[in-house]
Amino acid sequence: MTITSVDQYRAKPDDQIKLIEWDPNDKSAFPAGKSQGKKALKPLTARLEALQEVMWAEQKHKLLVVVQGMDTAGKDGTIRHVFTGVNPQGVRVASFKVPTPIELGHDYLWRVHQKTPGLGEIVIFNRSHYEDVLVVRVHDLVPEERWSKRYEHINAFEKLLADEGTTILKFFLHIDLDEQKGRLQARLDDPSKHWKFNVGDLKERALWQDYMAAYEDVLNKTSTDHAPWFIVPANRKWLRNLIISTVIVETLEGLAMNFPEPQDDLDEVVIN
Ligand code: AMP
Ligand code: MG
Repeated sequence: MTITSVDQYRAKPDDQIKLIEWDPNDKSAFPAGKSQGKKALKPLTARLEALQEVMWAEQKHKLLVVVQGMDTAGKDGTIRHVFTGVNPQGVRVASFKVPTPIELGHDYLWRVHQKTPGLGEIVIFNRSHYEDVLVVRVHDLVPEERWSKRYEHINAFEKLLADEGTTILKFFLHIDLDEQKGRLQARLDDPSKHWKFNVGDLKERALWQDYMAAYEDVLNKTSTDHAPWFIVPANRKWLRNLIISTVIVETLEGLAMNFPEPQDDLDEVVIN
């Protein structure tokens, strides 16, 4: 059983997205439910592994996957589940934390550009340059006259990457306040999850509406044909994984990659 069209989750460049109209519980793409959904992920994971092997061998394409979402939205879990089985040679994760003083001394794209994929590589951004119009905006870390210009910079930056051969996919993991409450509580109740619990996350939680407004602007201003956003209903982890995996696999299939021809004529080769 496969998922129905994932294009319904893509933010179209002309859409006026209001997140309140996007249901984080929506499972219409896969009504069969969790156990079937988990089963459906397996062949996709295998397919991704095979596609990445060709990509690495061919050294012709680059893939950038941006993962954004509120605390507990499932950024880490997505990376772990969707990329299970890929060869670490050729795949990297770049996590963007509070910028260091040196990073802050440069423009905000400086640290980001260095982490973008080279030929044959898949790079996953766990948070990204979008923090510079999300947390930065919500907390007034720079004045509005500065952050308000960043959407334009970001579109131009992503166009540069795309024109130079990078395929870009961006995923917003959409959960709701109730779901976050449950997940924070679960972290608190499980000592092995305490390392993930920051009391500061509660302050961010209190600013939920401000974050949603900031995310809406991101989705409305920066979802382009060359770097689309997908709004992933993420209250259900298995469905989140299924949707993201499907988008990535379908996109890589579309690149029509092939193993490179051998450098030498192998027909006459005899190994003694
Ligand atoms: P985590 O993803 O849980 O490891 O947390 C990383 C933290 O770094 C989050 O609170 C982000 O909001 C914060 N962060 C990431 N990028 C920036 C940025 N450009 N400016 C300020 N804070 C940031
Ligand atoms: Mg965190």
